[in-house]
Amino acid sequence: KENPFKKMPTILMPNELMEKALRRGEKVAEEFRKKEVPRYLKAKIVEENKVRTIASVISDNLQKYIDKTPPVRKLPKFYQEMVEVLAGIDEFKKCMGAFKWASDLVRKLGNEYAKKIRKARTPQEAAKLRKEFVGRVKSILKQIHPEMAFIAVAREKLKELPTFKELPTIVIAGYPNVGKSTLLKKLTGADVEINSYPFTTKGINVGYLEEFQIIDTPGLLDRPLHERNDIELQAILALNYLANLILFIIDASEYCGFPIESQIKLLDEIRELFKIPIFVAINKVDLADEEAVKKVEEELRKRSLDYIKISADKELNLEELKKEIKRRAFEEFKKAHM
Ligand code: GDP
Repeated sequence: KENPFKKMPTILMPNELMEKALRRGEKVAEEFRKKEVPRYLKAKIVEENKVRTIASVISDNLQKYIDKTPPVRKLPKFYQEMVEVLAGIDEFKKCMGAFKWASDLVRKLGNEYAKKIRKARTPQEAAKLRKEFVGRVKSILKQIHPEMAFIAVAREKLKELPTFKELPTIVIAGYPNVGKSTLLKKLTGADVEINSYPFTTKGINVGYLEEFQIIDTPGLLDRPLHERNDIELQAILALNYLANLILFIIDASEYCGFPIESQIKLLDEIRELFKIPIFVAINKVDLADEEAVKKVEEELRKRSLDYIKISADKELNLEELKKEIKRRAFEEFKKAHM
């Protein structure tokens, strides 16, 4: 299943939509002009069909925007959060309401004017009625211009979101260069999908280990959270709804360039912010000295955090790690879906 926003059609702006409708109206009128109809009737028939066509093009397009937009409240919570962060759920719904209002009104006006045109006594009167109708439709579209622009922008952002599956999900966190991407590749095989995430310039990497989803989020969970702005924080918090387990990686060798203290500090921040279980992997044990590893273990024990010692690069203990994260993520996934 694709990201639910990928099906949203391009939102035309009022003048584009109007032009499209007028063009179609003209085309239909052309058909009717060719027909063998008594002269005194022809003008009226042409105008009536123009009006009906314009009304249905506009009304149908607006209705299509509504129908192809997923109902926000029925989406998985993660995507709801994305709508909230990228657009605002209330505003988003208000726009759909405006589309509905305009769609219904244009349809109704189309019927009204078609009937009036049928009763017109002269071709001039019929043409005047059609012009009046077009004027009213233009003014309705002008009224919902802000909503159309808003949804057009929201759509651009939402359709870029990665597609996540509803599977037990593990999110990897830890400072840069601690071995996150190396580990993701080793756990899931070579085919790691790189998606963009509108909140960071780096890609979000998604891999699959059997029926488990593993996500690495460069740029999000790899530096102190107090340095983040509100939008970034919300984007980070949204991961709460996606993840069933956080796998926090610590580079005990400090080759990554970040001292153990800083890494533990980030771990503490993440513990505070996330409601889901955290499992820690002490990485690069092939490189780190025993003292450093002991120090990390002590800090983790103090926090009652479960951990495993691994080397992503040398593939040490990875089978054991797989077993642990699968079990923990599955437990939590079950709880969340009960
Ligand atoms: P990320 O920024 O957290 O994704 O880190 P990377 O996966 O890019 O790893 C950073 C560097 O550490 C790379 O040069 C890896 O080859 C190296 N590395 C990762 N895991 C290990 C390990 O267990 N042992 C050793 N010696 N090097 C590792």
